[in-house]
Amino acid sequence: MDNVKYTNLPDKNGYYGAFGGRLVPPLLEKALQEVEIAFREIKDDIGFQEEYRRLLNDFVGRPSPLYYARNLSEELGGAQIYFKREDLNHTGAHKINHCLGEALLAKRLGKKKVMSETGAGQHGVALATAAAVVGLDCEIHMGEIDIAKQADNVKRMKLLGAKVVPVKVGGRSLKEAVDSAFGVYMQEYQDTFFAIGSVVGPHPYPEMVAYFQSIIGREVRQQIQEKLHRLPDALVACVGGGSNALGIFYDFLDEENVRLIGVEPSGKGLESGRHAATLTLGKAGAIHGMQTYVLQEEDGSPSPVHSIASGLDYPGIGPFHAYLKEMGRVEYVSADDKEAAAAFVKTSRREGIVPALESSHALAHAYRLAPTLDKEQAIIVNVSGRGDKDIDFVAQEFPEIAFEGRLK
Ligand SMILES: *Cc1c(COP(=O)(O)O)cnc(C)c1O
Repeated sequence: MDNVKYTNLPDKNGYYGAFGGRLVPPLLEKALQEVEIAFREIKDDIGFQEEYRRLLNDFVGRPSPLYYARNLSEELGGAQIYFKREDLNHTGAHKINHCLGEALLAKRLGKKKVMSETGAGQHGVALATAAAVVGLDCEIHMGEIDIAKQADNVKRMKLLGAKVVPVKVGGRSLKEAVDSAFGVYMQEYQDTFFAIGSVVGPHPYPEMVAYFQSIIGREVRQQIQEKLHRLPDALVACVGGGSNALGIFYDFLDEENVRLIGVEPSGKGLESGRHAATLTLGKAGAIHGMQTYVLQEEDGSPSPVHSIASGLDYPGIGPFHAYLKEMGRVEYVSADDKEAAAAFVKTSRREGIVPALESSHALAHAYRLAPTLDKEQAIIVNVSGRGDKDIDFVAQEFPEIAFEGRLK
């Protein structure tokens, strides 16, 4: 095992150590093999790569800047803090990077439609956007409760030409939307591409989504070399399913001297039972076609999860992260709702950047870490998305930190 590089994973069956795999019914096995073969081909296909590159540059606006947060670095008085500005991407987050890759792959496979589920609607909007520009139909399954909560995102998906299918069974939320979308996919897989929204699900999705997101870390390497002529000391990213984190970590996995830190949401506190800290408190188990860590009940069913950031409340985690935790290559820590909200406000006031509440978990940890390091060191935080969507919520839930300036 000693000579296995992290970047050579997964193995040919999609395993990262004991995690990952393709735990699906035989019918889907064939569909996923087709996806896997196409994914292997596009890695060396110049036509595909040129088109993907063109869209990333001219449509998404890549490369996203690497911004030196001078005000906060000086104020905190430790390591120098940099932000990787995925919030500046078209559609306002990193998800567009892999949605475009998946849509182009679907097109190459001759599919007519991309489909998926969405919870808060972020993945649905990114996929509907990618489908529009690539020229595919798009179908998004969404729980009725989430549709009511996320009216703006629903309107946006429809404007972009997507069909939004309301899911009216059970808790009428993300879990039911996954089941509903999968049910339809099982019927229609010959004409349809299922576009998963993070580094989760059956092989090859964890590997494929990480591949499309790894552009983030490659840009970071070049940008920090230009600014500091060396590698960073630490990279910090929030972890929901784990795609923005793997995206920025990937190029540095085999660089032992770069600390990699993933920040999970501890919600209302790790003891409260209301969190989504899967790697901190979960156990090995199976969910959504993969073996990984899962927050689970006594009977093995996934636990209800909570986070102030809806993009982070998932009871599973990408299988590569489960392995990286077990190997000790990535440190996984957590930040709670209040710390994230405080970092949201602090970043807005001190740097003029309103980050997504998801990204605010990573920022909260960076602000704890920076003062413990010295001035020559550099921390890079992945600002995975912008926070316009979260302003009303923070103002309502945390009026004291949002409007009275009492920042810690
Ligand atoms: C969806 C989302 C996340 C969480 O997903 P990962 O796969 O863990 O990256 C984080 N930040 C933003 C802005 C998101 O929209």
